[in-house]
Amino acid sequence: MEKITSLAKRRGFVYQSSEIYGGQNGAWDYGPLGVELKNRIAGAWWKEMTRLHDNIVGLDAAILMHPRTWEASGHVENFTDPLVDCKKCKSRFRADQIPQENLTAKKCPDCGGELTDTRKFNLMFKTHIGPAEDTASIIYLRPETAQGIYVNYKNIIQSNRMKIPFGIAQIGKAFRNEIVTKNFIFRTCEFEQMEMQYFVKPGTDEEWFAEWRKQRWAYYEKLGIKMDHLRWHQHGPDELAHYAKDAYDIEYLFPMGWRELEGVHNRTDYDLGRHTQFSGKDLQYIDQDNNNERYIPYIIETSAGLTRNLLMIFCDAYDEEQVAEKGNDDDWRTVLRFHPDLAPVTVAILPLMKKDGLAELAQDIRAELKEDYATDYDQAGAIGRRYRRQDEAGTPFCVTVDYQSKEDGTVTLRFRDSMEQVRVPKAELSARIRQEIKAYKRTK
Ligand code: ATP
Repeated sequence: MEKITSLAKRRGFVYQSSEIYGGQNGAWDYGPLGVELKNRIAGAWWKEMTRLHDNIVGLDAAILMHPRTWEASGHVENFTDPLVDCKKCKSRFRADQIPQENLTAKKCPDCGGELTDTRKFNLMFKTHIGPAEDTASIIYLRPETAQGIYVNYKNIIQSNRMKIPFGIAQIGKAFRNEIVTKNFIFRTCEFEQMEMQYFVKPGTDEEWFAEWRKQRWAYYEKLGIKMDHLRWHQHGPDELAHYAKDAYDIEYLFPMGWRELEGVHNRTDYDLGRHTQFSGKDLQYIDQDNNNERYIPYIIETSAGLTRNLLMIFCDAYDEEQVAEKGNDDDWRTVLRFHPDLAPVTVAILPLMKKDGLAELAQDIRAELKEDYATDYDQAGAIGRRYRRQDEAGTPFCVTVDYQSKEDGTVTLRFRDSMEQVRVPKAELSARIRQEIKAYKRTK
């Protein structure tokens, strides 16, 4: 994880928030390459969950919601972590994350000092809206995006004439006052989620639950993730949320071990039932194709962290490879093997020399490719070094412009993973790259 954190910072993927002030715990900033990567991951998910489904639509709900939302959802009452503090070193721990013997003996796992009793700690960030700071003005930063979907489900049925089964997808920020925020961007206080809530008829929920498990697994396969680094974890009776009928997490083998990446949950009619009760509005679905049968739909949820997906994709892509004889200057390379659809830069254009019109020719080629691809241009230093820099940024294709290019209009197309090079007429470059992206299969 140290190598990943340091590469991420060095190459402008992720920086610590407010670093010049000593950093802000639980918050991170995404730099030039990071924001591109994050946008592409979001784009891939959005395409998968909306464009490829005729019956799933998008939503972008506000972060601030009516406080009753969080009473109805159960977050005010139940969204808590068990917390203990060390009276001596002042460290704070989640009681469920320290060894049981420390908890029983009330002994700090760090310094051996005395621990406080376990108390419940609500993870929602609370603030005030308007000028008065009293209980009437309390408002929360949403701890999940799902509730914005539930409260809009009737609006969307009406505006878009949706028929069950259908889904609503949303990507957005969520906030949790996490007690332990180590492991880089894995668990942060401010993060982004990609959630799709699928509304189904009671009785068909188990079938849809199985279907969504299948689809979410296939999605990661499509992105070229190492499938032996993914596994399912079914929630046991003591883990299962009170509203859930069944729940599975997709876990990824991060450098610190297997951890949750995404949850697929059968949430039953709990959410819409509770919002009916708390809002007084009738949230039943009226099935016009079935004698106006009325029911509260069941919800199958697929809930993934966008920023956690970014960490997973970064870890999964990270590779170090020996590429030349030992002792050679460039004997090892660090390479990020991103799927070309996700890579922050798709094509880098590199003139072999700055002089003799090669730089101008390279700039012309870049200008042409810009319309279709995210490009970079680099004319500084030896060509081998420049390839390494692009490998480290995860750029799948490099185009090198040399003296032959001036004569016959061909350029070198170099592939990140195999480091193979082929000559391509510059007029065919864009189509060739498109073809390579379509045919891409991860081999290493
Ligand atoms: P955990 O047990 O790790 O706290 P959770 O089970 O509470 O997570 P959910 O509420 O199911 O998580 O959230 C869905 C997804 O949102 C998670 O699978 C994860 O990818 C992401 N997520 C949740 N909390 C955080 C966080 N603090 N930082 C980054 N991503 C998060």
